[in-house]
Amino acid sequence: MRIILFGPPGAGKGTQAKRLVELYGIPQLSTGDMLREQIKLQTPLGLQVDAVMKSGGLVSDDIVVAMINERTSREDCHKGFILDGFPRTIPQGRALNAMLEARGEAIDVVVGIDCPDDVIRERTVNRRSCSSCGAIYHLTSMRPTVDDTCDRCGHVGLTHRDDDQLDAVNKRLGKFHNETAPLRTLYGQILQTVDGTQSPDEVTAAIQVVLESVRRQQRLKGLAGLASPYAGEGYGAGHGLAAAGGSIKASVAAAGASWADDSASTVTDDDDDSADGDSADDDDEEIIELPKRSPALLKGVGA
Ligand code: AMP
Repeated sequence: MRIILFGPPGAGKGTQAKRLVELYGIPQLSTGDMLREQIKLQTPLGLQVDAVMKSGGLVSDDIVVAMINERTSREDCHKGFILDGFPRTIPQGRALNAMLEARGEAIDVVVGIDCPDDVIRERTVNRRSCSSCGAIYHLTSMRPTVDDTCDRCGHVGLTHRDDDQLDAVNKRLGKFHNETAPLRTLYGQILQTVDGTQSPDEVTAAIQVVLESVRRQQRLKGLAGLASPYAGEGYGAGHGLAAAGGSIKASVAAAGASWADDSASTVTDDDDDSADGDSADDDDEEIIELPKRSPALLKGVGA
């Protein structure tokens, strides 16, 4: 499955992408991480983009499009990928559509993680990350077990990114509203939003509900022999998600059902397993296997 995680800086895209990598076994493609790696290695590209990134500006479309074109054509992206931080402008979105279309591929779903600006500011000024493995922490809500030490790789000395300083965050929020948010029009019906102010576990569970719903819709479209999901410039017609740009509100039962027990899964997009004869077990031909979720992920999902 080819997934875009869409939302403002600090909405939790990076945290969620890493969880989805674990759950679904498809890679996270973070343009921010790729660019930071270039800076760390002091490559010509890194030196070129360092200042604009620190200030909270956007790197040029040509650079990030070339990076994603190369990265998505690698073998490990064959079964899908999770885009985190790309596309960020309308030209990037168009370039992505064109590069995938040329390969006979398409984005399956855009998961919007909604989060108000004041929550973003609070999160980013308290965010710390591991420069060694990329793990993300928060000084109040997601502290490492040992102060200033990465739980995942043991690296000592967590980093507060330059672009997570308040001035840079305000600039990045401005860029998001002016240049990234308009992408919503490009993705039409394949954009599904979740409430990013919930706990990370709750957001993960809500995203899993969205992905299950998309998979079910694709299976139905496949059975009906419908064509490409592309509809002119924007996405929408072939995907069949009920609500354009809609928000899926999942109940705890809906979130857990198809993996946690054998009852039917329902979401509020008129999706009805009992009606379509779908079950969690008849997914042999699917692109990815959806794993069973732990009960921890099901707590208080978007009710
Ligand atoms: P992120 O880690 O996604 O918040 O990205 C950090 C910074 O990298 C951004 O503030 C931009 O300066 C740059 N960057 C990452 N992705 C893109 C992109 N798709 N287009 C332009 N600049 C980007």
